[in-house]
Amino acid sequence: MKRRNLVKALSVGAIAGAISACKPKAQDCTNSTTANTKTYKWKMVTAWPKNFPGLGTGANFLAEIINSMSGGRLQITVYGGGELVPPLEVFDAVSRGTAEMGHAASYYWRGKVPEAQFFGAVPFGMNAQEMNGWIYHGGGLELWTELYKPHNLVPFPVGHSGVQMGGWFNKEINTKDDLKGLVMRIPGLGGDVLARAGGSPKLLPGSELFTSLQTGNIDATEWVGPYNDLAFGLYQAAKYYYYPGWHEPTACLEGIVNKQAYDSLPEDLQEIIRIACIAATQNMLADYTAKNNTALETLVNEHHVQLRKFPDEVLEELKIQAHEVVEELGNQSEIGKMIYQSYKTFAEKTRNWLEVSEKAYLQAR
Ligand code: CA
Repeated sequence: MKRRNLVKALSVGAIAGAISACKPKAQDCTNSTTANTKTYKWKMVTAWPKNFPGLGTGANFLAEIINSMSGGRLQITVYGGGELVPPLEVFDAVSRGTAEMGHAASYYWRGKVPEAQFFGAVPFGMNAQEMNGWIYHGGGLELWTELYKPHNLVPFPVGHSGVQMGGWFNKEINTKDDLKGLVMRIPGLGGDVLARAGGSPKLLPGSELFTSLQTGNIDATEWVGPYNDLAFGLYQAAKYYYYPGWHEPTACLEGIVNKQAYDSLPEDLQEIIRIACIAATQNMLADYTAKNNTALETLVNEHHVQLRKFPDEVLEELKIQAHEVVEELGNQSEIGKMIYQSYKTFAEKTRNWLEVSEKAYLQAR
């Protein structure tokens, strides 16, 4: 066949194929052409101050890559906490459609959806690597999607802090008795655990940590890790910097999308959101890994911070209490039981693998 004829035959074939592919769903073809040229302008509300290192910049990164991957067809404007809605109203705002998208942490909604805490941070639970394994390949995301369905939301993981620090203390912690009466800012399940160990957990927004610590209103506070803690200047208000962050082996952050807004998108834009969220998840963990280590150097070498490891006895006591707290959370509802079982089974299996891989390697090197 001569080239011209081949081209002609291919063109006719391609057109015929396109027509026959369109036939059963002629309406869909017209819609998809329209949809592929349509521009969507979305709002993303967040629980962080605008451009807040790690978390806020992670939300910006997500919006930027969605904009660029979609060739500008899905444009997302990011709003800091309080700009459009208060930080702790992100869930409701996206649920009712005030904003199409949100970026926050699932454990903020514990009063409304207690089971959501399994997707944020679990004391003595899975770290970022394990959480990703569970969420992406162990059934976690399906359960999370199910949990948020009645709330009109589609969830995606969007970032990890990695293992956090234990926090800033003005009181030495040498035995488990030192936890008794300890007044500490520590939210979520970590706070529940501290309370059972005899401490007195407090809920304070990040902006009040420094003053509360300096005035002695609290004995201790946790925040995130060196990168964010250095920026807050907490080393100026506390004597000791304890590790590890048993209460947050990672904070898995969430991207939530209003269900109607998500369903209104053509499939390729839905896929772009899904893939962009995976990229943003990896990018944030890399950001924290890179910045935490330089910030820790600055804290220790320039600000002479006293780094302390929690004694084994203290960690052991907290771990006993944590297992009870988490088990109770996992038995509160039918969906809670499913999530808890899935989380627990995966965590046990992956622990065996990490023992002979990551842990053995870290110890060996
Ligand atoms: Ca924290």
